[in-house]
Amino acid sequence: MTTAPATQTIPLGGPTLPQERRVTTAIPGPRSQEILDRKASAVAAGVGHTVPIAAVAAGGGVVVDADGNSLIDLGSGIAVTTVGVAHPKVVEAIAAQAAQLTHTCFMISPYESYVAVAEALNRLTPGDHEKKSALFNSGAEAVENAVKIARKHTGRQAVVAFDHAYHGRTNLTMGLTAKAMPYKSGFGPFASEIYRVGASYPFRDRLSGADAAAKAISSIEKQIGADNLAAVIIEPIQGEGGFIVPADGFLSAIAQWCRDNGVVFIADEVQSGFARTGAMFASELFGVVPDLVTTAKGIAGGMPLAAVTGRADIMDSAHAGGLGGTYGGNPVACAAALAAIDAFENDGLIERAQQIEELLLTRLRAMAEADPRIGDVRGRGAMIAAEFVDPATGAPDAALTSAVAKAAIADGVIVLTCGTYGNVIRFLPPLSISDELLSEGLDVVASALQAN
Ligand code: PMP
Repeated sequence: MTTAPATQTIPLGGPTLPQERRVTTAIPGPRSQEILDRKASAVAAGVGHTVPIAAVAAGGGVVVDADGNSLIDLGSGIAVTTVGVAHPKVVEAIAAQAAQLTHTCFMISPYESYVAVAEALNRLTPGDHEKKSALFNSGAEAVENAVKIARKHTGRQAVVAFDHAYHGRTNLTMGLTAKAMPYKSGFGPFASEIYRVGASYPFRDRLSGADAAAKAISSIEKQIGADNLAAVIIEPIQGEGGFIVPADGFLSAIAQWCRDNGVVFIADEVQSGFARTGAMFASELFGVVPDLVTTAKGIAGGMPLAAVTGRADIMDSAHAGGLGGTYGGNPVACAAALAAIDAFENDGLIERAQQIEELLLTRLRAMAEADPRIGDVRGRGAMIAAEFVDPATGAPDAALTSAVAKAAIADGVIVLTCGTYGNVIRFLPPLSISDELLSEGLDVVASALQAN
């Protein structure tokens, strides 16, 4: 290990950044530590972090820190930089738009790029019915607005969310989110008329999709009543809850019940959308056409943008002025989204996500064969996870999960954990990562597991 130079040139991000894992200091190195110390003094403690570096550049499949360490990126900033950090098309679009027009507020003077993003979303989201969109800043804001729209459309109030759900940290979305720590604890009271029912978690419930759906529907009918229910919201693959892929038939049965009962079916594709799962939207993998879809994260290559897209008659039920916000659909974010969407559609990124699925599943399944502490390997596309358990009992092993993730990070690989029980490592690489880097990242995770 060498000491970092006192001054260093900060590299430009993007795909030309050397694609290598290079760890030349302890993690965090001295310069990162200095910045993290300042963070501890200046930034509210509630804003935590899991990878103890100060990032200065990223691109392809690496993140470079303030000490010049180059870490393999298996997290994409939580599924955001799916096209890659500093994708050339996105950088060019941002620079050109920033020089031309950064803000008017779409609710004051509209501009074309917002309209073009809405048109693209209406075309790309599942289903060929007439659709409309509205743009916002964050996933949570999109979810809040989807619920507002569903309530206005139906004239009903109740909303159903599922076990293991994550929908955000604002007041309404905290209520929809399942996990108390760290997302909800001490932050109540939460919004009313939110009800939670069981999800499909094949590794733990061993239920068929039809049986899991029948259970959920029975709870809804007995405890809420379809006549009171405005919307059911669900992540097609549950993200923060543990990358849980529902059993076949679960989502389609819930969607059908919603259709039969005049309930708005909302797919929260904030994490699973935009090629992440090897389809443009994860709903497609399950043959489901949602009434409303919420998107964010991958939509704009790292710029803050979110959307609600759905059936035109539902979307139009909110009166003029009822939806919006000062920054929603900012011109620079919209320009970035149009460039990212161009890349998703024309640069083979859906196929790339499918290749990454193959590589990740093959390696992780081999690791699971050799080590029974990996109880389950699951996911689609570049959204894959390993669930760690006590092999004797199947009980979740959060301590092992955390130790493996920490060891991988110390060895130059960014991995994220998730799961209601904190026992899942999720793999969310940017689609711009090379096979070589991805394999090397998995080698490091395998060594970290062996060492713990
Ligand atoms: N929904 C889902 C499925 C998510 O994964 C997230 C973020 N992890 C959100 C909503 C909230 O998005 P944001 O953090 O942009 O508010």
